[in-house]
Amino acid sequence: MIGLMQDHPLLISSILAHAARHHRGSKIVSVAADGTQLRTDYPTTAARVAQLARALDRLGVRSGQRVATLGWNTLPHLELYYAVSGSGAVLHTVNPRLFPDQISYILNDAQDVALFVDSSLVPTLMALADRLPSSLHTVVVMDGAALPKLQVQALAYEDFIQDEPADFEWPVLDERTASALCYTSGTTGEPKGVLYSHRSTVLHAMAAIQPDVFALRAVDVVMPVVPMFHVNAWGLPYCAPMAGSGLVLPGPRLQPSNLYGLMEAEGVTFSAGVPTIWTGLLQWLQSQEGIRFSHPPRLVVGGTALPVAITEGFQREYGVPILHAWGMTEISPLGSVNTRKAEQSDWSEAAFLAYSRKQGRPQFGVDLRALDAIGKPIPQDELAFGELEVRGHWVASAYYNRTNEDAFTSDGWMRTGDVVTIDALGTIEIVDRAKDVIKSGGEWISSITLENLALGHPDVQLAAVIPAHHPKWDERPLLLVVRKLGSDPSPASILSIYEGRVAKWWIPDGVEFVDSLPLTATGKLWKAEMKKQWKDYTFTA
Ligand code: AMP
Repeated sequence: MIGLMQDHPLLISSILAHAARHHRGSKIVSVAADGTQLRTDYPTTAARVAQLARALDRLGVRSGQRVATLGWNTLPHLELYYAVSGSGAVLHTVNPRLFPDQISYILNDAQDVALFVDSSLVPTLMALADRLPSSLHTVVVMDGAALPKLQVQALAYEDFIQDEPADFEWPVLDERTASALCYTSGTTGEPKGVLYSHRSTVLHAMAAIQPDVFALRAVDVVMPVVPMFHVNAWGLPYCAPMAGSGLVLPGPRLQPSNLYGLMEAEGVTFSAGVPTIWTGLLQWLQSQEGIRFSHPPRLVVGGTALPVAITEGFQREYGVPILHAWGMTEISPLGSVNTRKAEQSDWSEAAFLAYSRKQGRPQFGVDLRALDAIGKPIPQDELAFGELEVRGHWVASAYYNRTNEDAFTSDGWMRTGDVVTIDALGTIEIVDRAKDVIKSGGEWISSITLENLALGHPDVQLAAVIPAHHPKWDERPLLLVVRKLGSDPSPASILSIYEGRVAKWWIPDGVEFVDSLPLTATGKLWKAEMKKQWKDYTFTA
């Protein structure tokens, strides 16, 4: 027997329509590269999105075709999120920090028909001018400065939309229709495309706004610092209008002083970013005599592990709580969050702060399991290492344009490539990427644990642990350290941080001081490159 309830497809167009009808008073603030601010609201934005959808139609963009963006977190980018997906085409957000070869690969793989670019990123585009896909017929500059000289038509955004009427008949699509395409950063091999659907996007946003996740309310003001080109800014451009929250889009101006200024001036109550952003903000705050938040915002962090020292610093010194989340491009991105469970309701703040280094537990809608080398679930003893697998409503089932990926199991799970332990409460802690774990005499050592501990040393700015060859143990950990400006610690002083904190055999066999460490386009330690640079480094028995 089938239930007798209405059966409306879950569509992205309905999110903005909801905000425009029911949250007219929530603000949207967008900051341009030169610092000028644009202030608007959901009804006005919905009208412009309708104009943009009409303009895309005029251009000949059809359902299923890919429309690329090379842009920061700005209002036109938000408008594209809704106009492109809402009309049935696929929004392809491209990370401008990738290498030109990767960008060209991605554009060609996606066969985009149009590209929207911020004027500050036109030089990035020009560097690829002779490697653009043949499918691409139009480039639109989002903030309308000088138009690039390309083989294809170039337009200015406002000219492109201004003569169109501000209404559009949003198609009632099958909710499984593709809505957006985002490529993984591809630290090894070519980037791989993850193709989201309307259904996965709406369900992900509904889960993300819930109390134990982002806890968004209509009175919140949300500032996504995480870029709109990286996993849809963790879904926030959908979450905020769904909850009715205001949105502050900081553009490319992500210096700590700008972020703090915007948070204070706009009453930001919630913001999201990677650890580098929040580490930078904390260091800047600590350098400003007597500075405080008039209304401390809540922060969410993910992308790489956040050193507990940062969480503690924000909470204790500034009253700013940080939520630690784990996710992947393939999971839209939310996989787990570390918020208190019933068993932890009476834990002290200090005990939970220390626990916040862990990545947490899945919210409803995703399921996790961790398997050992022979495919058996690992015990929840906080010791055993297993590879994390995930399934759920917003988890990829395949990569775009690829076949036979071994990332997907025959029984419907996706292999994350992350190695975890699980504790008695079912909380996961990422100990490494499967390919970065250090295999010392057949036992595994977590490079991430060693890196996080090293970051707790007062003289360490940045740390990475990679395997180096050892004649007896095969691999042993080598610690690479970027020192804080003006400090000159000895290797022994750095290594002393590990005493009593990890098993003796985990302690790195060597420390090398370096001026910088290679990072990927998404700001993560680029281990593959480091391993290449240090491949001849050998310990003696
Ligand atoms: P991306 O698809 O670029 O977002 O990268 C996803 C990967 O980032 C995951 O597979 C993890 O290895 C890593 N990652 C994401 N969030 C966290 C976190 N909170 N702690 C540690 N690693 C993380």
